[in-house]
Amino acid sequence: MKITRLTLWQLDLPLTEPYYLSGGRLRFDRLDSTCLRIDTDEGLCGWGEGCPWGHTYLPAHGPGIRAGIATLAPALIGLDPRSVDHVNRVMDVQLPGHPYVKSAVDIACWDILGQAANMPLWQLLGGESATPVAVNSSISTGTPEQMIALINRAAERGYTVHSAKVGGTDIVADIARIEGISAALPTGHRVTFDVNRAWQPATAVEVLNSVTARDWVEQPCETLDQCAHVAARVKNPILLDECMVTMADHLEAWRRSACEGVKVKPNRVGGLTKARQIRDFGVSVGWQMHIEDVGGSALADTAAIHLAAATPDANRLASWLCHYHLSADPVPGQGARNVNGFATPPDTPGLGVIPNPDHLGDPFAIFE
Ligand code: MG
Repeated sequence: MKITRLTLWQLDLPLTEPYYLSGGRLRFDRLDSTCLRIDTDEGLCGWGEGCPWGHTYLPAHGPGIRAGIATLAPALIGLDPRSVDHVNRVMDVQLPGHPYVKSAVDIACWDILGQAANMPLWQLLGGESATPVAVNSSISTGTPEQMIALINRAAERGYTVHSAKVGGTDIVADIARIEGISAALPTGHRVTFDVNRAWQPATAVEVLNSVTARDWVEQPCETLDQCAHVAARVKNPILLDECMVTMADHLEAWRRSACEGVKVKPNRVGGLTKARQIRDFGVSVGWQMHIEDVGGSALADTAAIHLAAATPDANRLASWLCHYHLSADPVPGQGARNVNGFATPPDTPGLGVIPNPDHLGDPFAIFE
């Protein structure tokens, strides 16, 4: 089987409400997503999506995905998409780094592999069944009262796990957010305080040694070095996210006891192939993981939910669904959706999400 064509669509995905990270440090109201279809000489086609969470969140931006795939396309034509590791090696030779460019290509290849094997992705990725995965809310930063109101609204939709955004220069405000939210959580609910790297190490140590809450704290500072420094000086379990890109980053975090868990996001690390390697490492060392994508429609969310569903319960905290924040849905009714706080991956072969090209508009580019 050979790749014969790559078709790209640019999708403008508006958020239902503007999103604020880290005390308003980052604000955006739409996502620039790239949808990809890979066609083969045997009639099978696979779908993938790559979507940064705005262009201020990671060193990744929407137009960069399309430019990168244009660079890779000549080397991808003619490859067997079922050989996912080989496809990744070719991409890494042709375009070192730039993992976020490669995720849509990798997901589309996994979709074709699953269809060729007549197996859903959760099974190809090692899972025993289409396990429902707990989904978590994402609570934009604000006053403690505003944030508690958002958590209560999420609880009404079935969420029992929450990611609350904190972090800024006002230490007193962050202490009030953490203590207020932790104390007001509905019974049985859990929260992670996601700092999105906004604190200096001294701020992180001061805030976390002032609060009595012992909930998870995510990405307190910019770098792995800084986060490891903080982890050695606080009692809260630490989850790492933005600073974790390569397998080497994960090995280093483990060696330095910098965290008790990580976020595994296909678009950040380069696709499902590399996310699976990190997931397997995380299981082997006993980390707890959120497996979800950086952003995108239900298509990107569903690829990540397949991997989450194939991950042991003991190593899985929850998964966020980006499409819940969007006012546009390019794959209506399809894929993993929140049903009372859980999302279940499709049981059909491959990814199980098939966009209707008529709903995607004119292609951005076709390579053949
Ligand atoms: Mg995060």
